Amino acid sequence: MRLVLLGPPGAGKGTQAQWLKERYGIPQLSTGDMLRAAVAAGTEIGRQAKAVMERGELVSDEIMIGVIAERLRSPDCARGFVLDGFPRTVAQAEALERLLAERGEKLDAVIELAVDTEALVERIAGRFACAKCGAGYHDRFKRPAVEGVCDVCGGTEFVRRKDDNAEAVRTRLQAYAAQTAPLLPFYRQRGLLRTVDGMAPIAEVTAAIRRALEDIAG
Ligand code: ADP
Ligand code: AMP
Repeated sequence: MRLVLLGPPGAGKGTQAQWLKERYGIPQLSTGDMLRAAVAAGTEIGRQAKAVMERGELVSDEIMIGVIAERLRSPDCARGFVLDGFPRTVAQAEALERLLAERGEKLDAVIELAVDTEALVERIAGRFACAKCGAGYHDRFKRPAVEGVCDVCGGTEFVRRKDDNAEAVRTRLQAYAAQTAPLLPFYRQRGLLRTVDGMAPIAEVTAAIRRALEDIAG
């Protein structure tokens, strides 16, 4: 299964990718996570991306396409993947199409998580993650079952993202509207776009994606 999760920052892409990777036995390719790892490791890409990410702007297409091209060559992507945060521009979408075509592959579906802008700000403000395994949580909408303990790995340290502040969030939402929203007609034209109501509670969004994918599989 080759999937793209599309939606503004805070829409729930990472949250839904979590079960999709289990369900289909495919890796989650989060370009945001890859860049944060590169920044933490102090690689050349990390050095180039750090300030851009902190402002909430998009990292260059050239860097991002290089990152994804390399990641797609890994053997674990042979049976598919769920892309979360890529593509974010039409140039990235076109490059992805080319990269897949070279392998005789194409996307199965692009799932759009549609969420009101006001809800996004609240979701991002309350977001935190396990420092050890990266599992995502929310102050109101998704607390760990045991307070202070990660449901997934038992970790007890949690982190908040540096770019989840009001100013960077504003820039990220503008970047989505200007540079990423044009992907909706791009994928609609190709018959790949499935829009799901991302305003519903997490479990209902999961159920809606499940139905959309069953529909595609026939
Ligand atoms: P994205 O990967 O699209 O940026 P996340 O998956 O990190 O978004 O979700 C943003 C925040 O909103 C997280 O704290 C997550 O727990 C929470 N969240 C995700 N989906 C929902 C939902 N359907 N309803 C309420 N909160 C949600
Ligand atoms: P995310 O974790 O998806 O919210 O991404 C965090 C930040 O990483 C974004 O605000 C961008 O600065 C950068 N980023 C992640 N993916 C991409 C991409 N596909 N294209 C450009 N920048 C990206």
